[in-house]
Amino acid sequence: MDNYVYTIGNKIYINLTNRCSNNCDFCIRQGRQGMQNTTLWIKNEPDADEVIAQLPQNLDDFDDEIVFCGFGEPTYNLETLDEVASYLHCIDKTTRINTNGQANLIHGQDVSDVIVESCDVINISLNECTAEKYQQHCKSIFGKDAFDALLEFAQLCKRRGGKVVFSVVDSIGKDDVEKCQQLAKKLGVPLRVRTKE
Ligand code: SF4
Repeated sequence: MDNYVYTIGNKIYINLTNRCSNNCDFCIRQGRQGMQNTTLWIKNEPDADEVIAQLPQNLDDFDDEIVFCGFGEPTYNLETLDEVASYLHCIDKTTRINTNGQANLIHGQDVSDVIVESCDVINISLNECTAEKYQQHCKSIFGKDAFDALLEFAQLCKRRGGKVVFSVVDSIGKDDVEKCQQLAKKLGVPLRVRTKE
């Protein structure tokens, strides 16, 4: 059975796809089957009913914020994301997406309205401070355009009233973290610096 929902501690995560426009050097999928004891490689991408059916019965025992994350870029399965988010909002849950910020390139149009409507927090992996470094480490199928598109996507989401956060991992080095801080500040987006696990 494909696993579309998994939990870590008191958080619920939703796994909508294995597709991704990046092939990051540091991707957690490399050499792994899943998270904790849950396999996250899936044979078929789910529709909303299939995701909702896998949510824990005791939903209220978990954190109110439910996260679109998993083994791939969630925005590839946009229709399901949108429908599941509507359902979760109806039952008073909040939502976050962890995304590479390339949704508009993936869909060939501006879908930031759907993301802002669906996701209460939009956590975009900035990863690097320049397009060249981003492409070197993230290897987007869209080439160097990916980084600028990611920045533009963040701005579009912000303009639509979305709560946008950038994240980087401190392993890129102090100088580049500082450059990411400056870039994030220029765009008015908070930057979360994570420690490499
Ligand atoms: S964007 Fe995320 S899922 Fe995609 S390759 Fe990079 S780390 Fe992996």
